[in-house]
Amino acid sequence: MKQADFVMICVNDYGGQMRGKGFPAWELGTRLHIGMGIAPTSMMITTFGDIIDTPWGPRGELLMMPDPETEVSITLDDRPPERFVIADLIHLDGTPWAGCPRSWARRALEALEQEAGVVLKSAFEHEFHYSGAEQRLGDAYLLDGMRVCGDFPTALLQALAESGIEPESFMPEYGPQQFEVTCKPALGLASADRAVKLREIVRSIARHYGHKATFSPVMVNGAVGNGTHIHFSLQDTGHNPISYDATRPDAIGEKAGQFLAGVLRDMPAIVALTAPSVVSYERMKPDRWSPTYSNLGDKDREAGLRLCPIATFPGCDPEAQCNFEYRACDAAASPYLALGALVWAGLGGIRDKLLVPRATTDDPEKLSKGERAQRGIVRLPQSLPEALDNLSSSERAKSWMGETLMEAYLVHKRSELKVLEGLSPDEQVDRYTQAY
Ligand code: GLU
Ligand code: MG
Repeated sequence: MKQADFVMICVNDYGGQMRGKGFPAWELGTRLHIGMGIAPTSMMITTFGDIIDTPWGPRGELLMMPDPETEVSITLDDRPPERFVIADLIHLDGTPWAGCPRSWARRALEALEQEAGVVLKSAFEHEFHYSGAEQRLGDAYLLDGMRVCGDFPTALLQALAESGIEPESFMPEYGPQQFEVTCKPALGLASADRAVKLREIVRSIARHYGHKATFSPVMVNGAVGNGTHIHFSLQDTGHNPISYDATRPDAIGEKAGQFLAGVLRDMPAIVALTAPSVVSYERMKPDRWSPTYSNLGDKDREAGLRLCPIATFPGCDPEAQCNFEYRACDAAASPYLALGALVWAGLGGIRDKLLVPRATTDDPEKLSKGERAQRGIVRLPQSLPEALDNLSSSERAKSWMGETLMEAYLVHKRSELKVLEGLSPDEQVDRYTQAY
């Protein structure tokens, strides 16, 4: 019997999971036009599968409207390809649904461009664990650490390239069976689309080899975690880079610096969207190469925002290299919510013409309380409930998110907390490694 291709229309939900419905590929033309129906409460499926609470119950209807630009087709051996396409959630009359994460990120990017004349270029850098890598002592960054993965890296890079994701690097990271994959930056929403596709392609190739790729922020309590760092730079609407200005302190362009100031100001609240799991706060502990303060750190991999290095020997273009890295993010986050939060917070900094922050050159923990307060550096939340309280009480976050998205997100996340109630820290880590 000839096998028909199959396509899934998926929405990236509040837990960053891809959920949707499938259909035979010959229906794709129709589905691109009419979308596919789904209950709003499907967005309330927690990352562990249960629906604990929902604002809508069994009522209402939305459409998943696929964006043809986002279609992914993964072909391995002579099996039918795996195909999926990313959708926005819209009302039956075609208007965007206020709870849709992808539409929210798009609105943020539009506001940034219209109000501030700024376009964002960004790339999500992912760390994950691959169960198919033979365990070997001392394999971090090791050439032999690549050999123990079999064909996984080459098949992965090929599938990423075929999906237009422009892979840039792949390496054995520091943790056991931990790897990192990066791709080239893309403009606007395409960068979050790439992140969504990349995670699923990594998972798919791992499954193909009979193994599992896990993006959970933490695999083992007490050990280094899996980050998803967002690299970004700013351009004007003519696509000229504006992040770098050699004449200014730390060589940060004025508008870019205001954007950074806005991100730092709201970091204690937006981590609820960018580091949104219980174990995200196990990852963001001191000495884990992961942030604990809302600081801009010069080439500091434990800063909330890192000022990335710029090579200065002849022939290097500092303007083209200059980028910043938001490190308080992991793959429990929807890339759309993470990008949206970053952009709304940054735009707030430009709107309010905030003072451009000076970069720290040492651990903020070593500064006195007074110095930290004077520089606006605060300790990031140390638990998901703390982060959610910051988000829900932030007037700025309320204005960007609107009631529908804020309520839906908080209900979703507080449901996640309920599912984990009473479990030991190891059991919680185990739930997340299963889910991500
Ligand atoms: N694994 C670290 C994290 O959780 C990052 C290590 C690195 O700098 O690449 O963010
Ligand atoms: Mg890394």
